[in-house]
Amino acid sequence: MKDASVLLVNDDGYFSEGILTLYEVLKKEFKTVKVVAPDRNLSGAGHALTFTKPLRIRQVDPDVYTVIEGTPADCVHLGVAVVFEGKKPDVVVSGINQGPNLGEDITYSGTVAGAMEGAILGIPSMAVSLFAREDFRFADASLVVLDLLKKVLKTGLPKNLYLNVNVPNLPYKELKAYAITRQGHRIYKEAVIRYRDPYGQPIYWIAATEFNWSSEPWTDYWAVAQGFVSITPLDLDLTNPAVKKGVALFR
Ligand code: MN
Repeated sequence: MKDASVLLVNDDGYFSEGILTLYEVLKKEFKTVKVVAPDRNLSGAGHALTFTKPLRIRQVDPDVYTVIEGTPADCVHLGVAVVFEGKKPDVVVSGINQGPNLGEDITYSGTVAGAMEGAILGIPSMAVSLFAREDFRFADASLVVLDLLKKVLKTGLPKNLYLNVNVPNLPYKELKAYAITRQGHRIYKEAVIRYRDPYGQPIYWIAATEFNWSSEPWTDYWAVAQGFVSITPLDLDLTNPAVKKGVALFR
């Protein structure tokens, strides 16, 4: 296990506290830990892959790389192909994100997309987000990641299954058990804020003014709100589950 290789990615940028705290914790435990992350905050970038222009990689530290103008998915893709020289790491961890990724958030999330890209490449992968808006306890959440990584490295993950992990913002010892959850549901209160530019033209800012999700039991939001570490197993197959039972549409 000490020999394991870990690729770290995120969507907040290589300089963000969440990824750097995790990197410091993991590099003491595993032989190879490399960060390949965007050069800017790309929260909300989803799973975009850049294929209409070339990309450059800049090495900012012996084991820290950034893809200039690259998305989280680009970082995983180039991380494996270039930084790891085509040899797949044992695990991809995306995060720790500054803020949660719950319910429908996961479709916008660059953090989740980083893990999704890892799963597409056939690597056990997890996205990790911290359920907080301020006073982020990244060191505590890093211990959760370390514990989960040991389990994943020991037993692996089923093909096409990757993990969306959300950690309550609590001291490590106060965290409750791991709750295996399903994707919850966001109650949208997204605002479009309207301003005028200096020339009097209208400009708009899409902003989440409140965070609120449905609190149905055993959903991701319900679990973190109770102090559980929420683990939602996701699948690369996005087919609606009703189809497995058979469903007829359009008469
Ligand atoms: Mn983010």
